[in-house]
Amino acid sequence: MVASSTEGGTGAGRRVAVIGAGIVGLCSARYLLDRGFEVEVFEPREPRSACSFGNAGVLSSWSCVPLSMPGEWKLAPKWLLDPLGPLSLRWSYLPLVTPWLLKFVRAGRRDRIDALSDAMFVLNNPCVEHYRELLRGSGHEKLIQDSAYVHVYRNPKDADIDAPAYRLRRRHGASVRLLDAGDIGDIEPAISREYRAGIMIENQGRTTNPARLCRVIAEDVRRRGGTITRAEVHALIPRQGDGVALELGRETRVADKVVVAAGAWSKRLVEPLGLRVPLESGRGYHIMFNDSGVALNNSVVDDDLHFVASSMETGLRITGIMEFAGLDAPETQRRYSILAKLAARMFPDLEGTEHDRWMGHRPVIPDTLPVIGPLPGQPSVLLAFGHGQLGLTGAPMTGRIVAALAAGERPNIDLTPYRPERFD
Ligand SMILES: Cc1cc2nc3c(=O)[nH]c(=O)nc-3n(C[C@H](O)[C@H](O)[C@H](O)COP(=O)(O)OP(=O)(O)OC[C@H]3O[C@@H](n4cnc5c(N)ncnc54)[C@H](O)[C@@H]3O)c2cc1C
Repeated sequence: MVASSTEGGTGAGRRVAVIGAGIVGLCSARYLLDRGFEVEVFEPREPRSACSFGNAGVLSSWSCVPLSMPGEWKLAPKWLLDPLGPLSLRWSYLPLVTPWLLKFVRAGRRDRIDALSDAMFVLNNPCVEHYRELLRGSGHEKLIQDSAYVHVYRNPKDADIDAPAYRLRRRHGASVRLLDAGDIGDIEPAISREYRAGIMIENQGRTTNPARLCRVIAEDVRRRGGTITRAEVHALIPRQGDGVALELGRETRVADKVVVAAGAWSKRLVEPLGLRVPLESGRGYHIMFNDSGVALNNSVVDDDLHFVASSMETGLRITGIMEFAGLDAPETQRRYSILAKLAARMFPDLEGTEHDRWMGHRPVIPDTLPVIGPLPGQPSVLLAFGHGQLGLTGAPMTGRIVAALAAGERPNIDLTPYRPERFD
């Protein structure tokens, strides 16, 4: 594990620019401040548009299962053709996304899974403890709650505790319990009786408001002397010797180090610097119901239809869908009505009104691991993006690693699996 966030403290008098105020940028900024760096975060958009604000709030400590598992890509055609399916593709985008898809299939090679799984575990497992530490004394501690992850199935045969995904979790120490229909009724009385079996992953966490969690960390960054500047970084120009210039349109800033934490937009900043990284937007959607009359005690995932239901401070949230259509295409309105249908199936007594619709760009990389580390040949540019469906979970550990690297330390975990040049 990376040593304590304050260890070292070698940042005094040195400036770090963080690009992006999503959860990865904010956690990085916070840990950099702990080490004494002067920190300025750049963010051009309304908070709502970042992926970190509308997610399912699952702090998925036991997530160590790569998205591309051996042979699973064969399910893709079925998912694409199912109108309620979890995968979607704008067909005009197919030529652009094909190289990514091929890398995704290759990432699911049987002999690579254990190593990918270990690297996911290192990033994700300590998240609950790290968030609790970040919020201690803030008055917002209740934003992080203990939770299980309850996977539910209609057909008991599908609840296979010996399936590779559960074997991987158990190998890392997860406590995994098989549930029958009666158990599900006891644990989550609000959900439909059509679920006949479940698998409960115990001892993880959830946040009941990812947007407020980001705001609380952003306030903390400011309180500790960091600044958050409303500006887009158009280009990065590494300077000879040390340091980086940041082009902000009319202005240029200079920093000793830069952290690129711009989520799915990061490729636009690093490609001109010579790094080819297979980063795509995996667009996800949510709908929210207020006064729904429904409360969940845990995060619940329908493993047949691949969506997540979460009780939030602001109502019931249904999240799902992985859509490949790029960063600039408008939202696909049909996705919202699909989520509404799924919600009605899971919650037969659902009341209230749908009061919010949201789409966000998951920064997805074919092997499920983010890119964390210095840009090859440019030690002043640190990269921290590509956390896919697990960025809320992986952000605190990523922030710790980034802060250690900026301070010139070698973190005591193996960073090889996350290295930016692994796709060459
Ligand atoms: C529907 C859905 C459900 C999810 N559920 C979960 C979950 O339950 N648990 C979990 O762990 N993860 C979940 N995720 C994934 C998680 O939300 C993301 O992995 C995470 O938010 C990514 O954080 P980020 O900081 O890398 O990116 P973002 O939150 O997208 O932030 C990147 C920021 O960079 C800014 N930026 C971009 N370009 C520039 C530039 N040139 N200059 C300055 N700033 C720039 C953007 O405006 C943006 O604010 C979910 C995602 C979706 C879509």
